[in-house]
Amino acid sequence: MEKILVTQSSMPGFHEYMDEIEELWDSHWLTNMGIKHKKLQKELKEYLSVENVELLTNGHMALELTLQAMNLQGEVITTPFTFASTTHAIVRNGLKPVFCDIDPVTYTMDVEKIEGLITDRTCAIMPVHVYGNLCDVEGIERIAHKYELKVIYDAAHAFGEVYKGRAIGSFGDASCFSFHATKVFNSIEGGAVCFTDTRLGNLLYELKNFGIHGPEEVSAVGANAKMNEFCAAMGLCNLRHVKEEIEKRKAVVERYYSHLQGVEGIQLNMLRSDVDSNYAYFPVVFEEKAFGASRAEVFNMLAENGIGARKYFYPLTNTFSCFHREYDVNDTPVALHISKRVLTLPLYADLQMEDVDRICRLILACKV
Ligand SMILES: *Cc1c(COP(=O)(O)O)cnc(C)c1O
Repeated sequence: MEKILVTQSSMPGFHEYMDEIEELWDSHWLTNMGIKHKKLQKELKEYLSVENVELLTNGHMALELTLQAMNLQGEVITTPFTFASTTHAIVRNGLKPVFCDIDPVTYTMDVEKIEGLITDRTCAIMPVHVYGNLCDVEGIERIAHKYELKVIYDAAHAFGEVYKGRAIGSFGDASCFSFHATKVFNSIEGGAVCFTDTRLGNLLYELKNFGIHGPEEVSAVGANAKMNEFCAAMGLCNLRHVKEEIEKRKAVVERYYSHLQGVEGIQLNMLRSDVDSNYAYFPVVFEEKAFGASRAEVFNMLAENGIGARKYFYPLTNTFSCFHREYDVNDTPVALHISKRVLTLPLYADLQMEDVDRICRLILACKV
């Protein structure tokens, strides 16, 4: 039996990509905001229905440079139920992450718990639309407005989503997307920031190019985070097919639902009628007592059958050894509970329905 990985990168046809990069052999312009970069930037503005997009090498640099561009100091309220990148972006900017617990259903930041964490050092909130689940954007906006805090969304999972007709990238002061190979939309490696304040955009443009302001002026200690032409070209190709890819993901998710919905001891990710989902992930929370098997048992059984599920997100970022027990995981008990029980199941556009059926049969056979 062929192995099934948790994800498989979307790719255009070989010749489609060859056609897209052919021009680069004429121009010899391989990076530094060339034609493909400009074209992808323009097309993403349209696809994401936002005013401004700045392209970057990856989603992490989008987060890190956005925080730097905002020139923040102090504490940033965030979630530990995320990829290492979110927390690292805060810490690498010399800022202190303050961990807010998550909602047990959406797994996004529990808005009821934010205000209790605000101090006179708080400068920003960095929530995550985890698994593509929309944060309580209204609640966060209300708090940010009341306390004059910046809001930077980690929208790495939320590419192209729309909430009540409004584009996901238009919330907060900035939204950061990842175009990593494993994401719904990829440019091999890549990322982008959507924002409204064009001054922020100008700063991001300089920061991604060493802080170079003009031919003889370097005005900020920037990084190198420019998206190259080959990645931009891959993005242009994949963008042509992303709607279809999302439709195919939707069919896979519906198939999973048809088998797993209503099973005792299993909590599925909730889809909302007011959000156009991108079907990025399929997380399942296993409650051992009610289900009859633990997350570890399900994970191991799937692995034995050549199926790669992921403990995503486990461990929580506030337990990482790099932080030397600086944070107390007991401050976020719901996140801890979920992270010990969640598995994301294989999900990608070309996953076969028979494979979904087999994965679900194997999982349900664990149930005692
Ligand atoms: C993928 C991811 C990132 C980082 O994106 P890269 O493009 O891999 O740098 C940040 N946050 C979350 C939640 C992610 O899943």
